[in-house]
Amino acid sequence: MVVERAGGAADLARRGVEVRLVDRADSPFQGSRGDGLQPRTLEVFDDLGVIDAVLAAGRELPVMRAYFAGIFAGERRMAEPVEPTPDVPYPNAWVLGQSDTEAILRARLAELGVRVEFGTALVDVTQDDTGVTVTLHRDGTPETVRASYLVGADGGASAVRKRLGIAFDGSTDNSIKMLLGDVRADTLDHDYGYWFAAAADQPMTGFALSPLPGARRFQFAAPLADDRSPDLATLQDLADRHGPEAGLLLSDLSWITLWRPNIRLARRFRDGRVFLAGDAAHVHPPTGGQGLNTGVQDAYNLGWKLAAALGGHPAPLDTYEPERRTVAAGILGLSTELLDKLVDGDEDAMRRGPETRQLGITYRSPTDHGPLVAGDRAPDALLHDEAGRPLRLFDLFRGPHATLLRFAPATGAPDAELSARAASGRAGYAHSGIRTVDIRRVDTPTNGSADTDRPACTTLVDTDGHAFTAYAAVPGNHVLIRPDGHLAHRW
Ligand SMILES: Cc1cc2nc3c(=O)[nH]c(=O)nc-3n(C[C@H](O)[C@H](O)[C@H](O)COP(=O)(O)OP(=O)(O)OC[C@H]3O[C@@H](n4cnc5c(N)ncnc54)[C@H](O)[C@@H]3O)c2cc1C
Repeated sequence: MVVERAGGAADLARRGVEVRLVDRADSPFQGSRGDGLQPRTLEVFDDLGVIDAVLAAGRELPVMRAYFAGIFAGERRMAEPVEPTPDVPYPNAWVLGQSDTEAILRARLAELGVRVEFGTALVDVTQDDTGVTVTLHRDGTPETVRASYLVGADGGASAVRKRLGIAFDGSTDNSIKMLLGDVRADTLDHDYGYWFAAAADQPMTGFALSPLPGARRFQFAAPLADDRSPDLATLQDLADRHGPEAGLLLSDLSWITLWRPNIRLARRFRDGRVFLAGDAAHVHPPTGGQGLNTGVQDAYNLGWKLAAALGGHPAPLDTYEPERRTVAAGILGLSTELLDKLVDGDEDAMRRGPETRQLGITYRSPTDHGPLVAGDRAPDALLHDEAGRPLRLFDLFRGPHATLLRFAPATGAPDAELSARAASGRAGYAHSGIRTVDIRRVDTPTNGSADTDRPACTTLVDTDGHAFTAYAAVPGNHVLIRPDGHLAHRW
């Protein structure tokens, strides 16, 4: 098994899958790039066991101080902060530089016994009915690897995608350029973000500075109208021309790039035993902070399916492309719309709506209707165990298994676990194991089915009715949840 990025590799490793993660780069990427983590990604990180580290290292979205023609014009927010609710524990985007997020995922991967093999490039791939043969180069020395599957998460210029001849449909627009980099601006209060422009309806005239957690750095973002080189002198010139009246000194540039809209979607996400994930499958504008998040969720969708296939259940793999390509196409539409607003000088260009949080992503069939159906995100809920200790459903979902929720199961009811096992066997999660959770209403005495003969069964009391509400459940309902936190079946 060869996989190319840390989150997906960690998901595979915790399932006991033998995995290699190779990266052509000699060392980890250093730069803030994808610094906006969306709520759904935070939920994935909760499941992967890295949420505490991500929350400790990051910060909330900053309040932006707007200056027009050098004069302070007031404070704005990209999105109003939302209070957590029992079903949505992480409702707001979280800021963490991409290199910091990657370091946390690499550390988790190392705990699971896998190290990223830097300086190791994939140069060729062929496949047959039983596996994939990959040629790697390290220090000019070739190595041939035989693997069951390959995931090409090798970025927008993906060698894997090119070797497979998969079209990357979309466009590159050379008329728009954006300069992005990480700098210090020590005269500014680092608790705030800044937006400097000629006027509110001319966002393409100035630049923005977003504070990065951890150090006194800001991510600098500016549209560039000419062919100047991406360096500190160019950033300083933009700051001198569009910055605050009091002046602004930039220093200590640690990463810079010149970005051009390159908005593309791979025509296929799969060829036989080879899969594409992340920017290899879809490249987005940075507007809306969607690219990294979408890639993380590709890998999360794929991990349990690869494990199932290796366990003898290849059917779930067939759902990877239809599920994730549909999602990626929708998200590309969203981030492109936000870029267009910026270019058009829309007053709302910096506002971010709930659709950017990715909590509404669903794999439901278009013919399915109802508040919560197969394919939808499985909500969290705060309950209590029978000793009165608080417990979240996400605490019970955490790990590689599927989960069966039984809402107020009646004594002597036909064994739902058997039905769930049959359904999950067909769908391929039997390999991941199923954890059974009985959810009892607070006014219903225990029915004795809290099974001493089933040690895997946990009984929870729905003290405030959060679980019944979030799942639109009535007594006797059952909900089977996939290992990646989406509903598989309900009955
Ligand atoms: C300025 C900027 C701001 C952004 N802001 C956000 C944001 O706020 N939120 C968000 O979600 N996204 C954002 N993004 C997008 C995000 O950075 C990307 O979507 C993300 O980096 C994609 O991750 P990836 O692993 O798929 O690809 P990459 O990060 O491109 O990584 C690909 C890896 O594959 C390796 N590789 C390439 N070829 C080979 C080979 N032949 N063999 C072995 N290894 C190879 C590379 O060395 C690299 O390490 C932003 C992007 C930019 C440029």
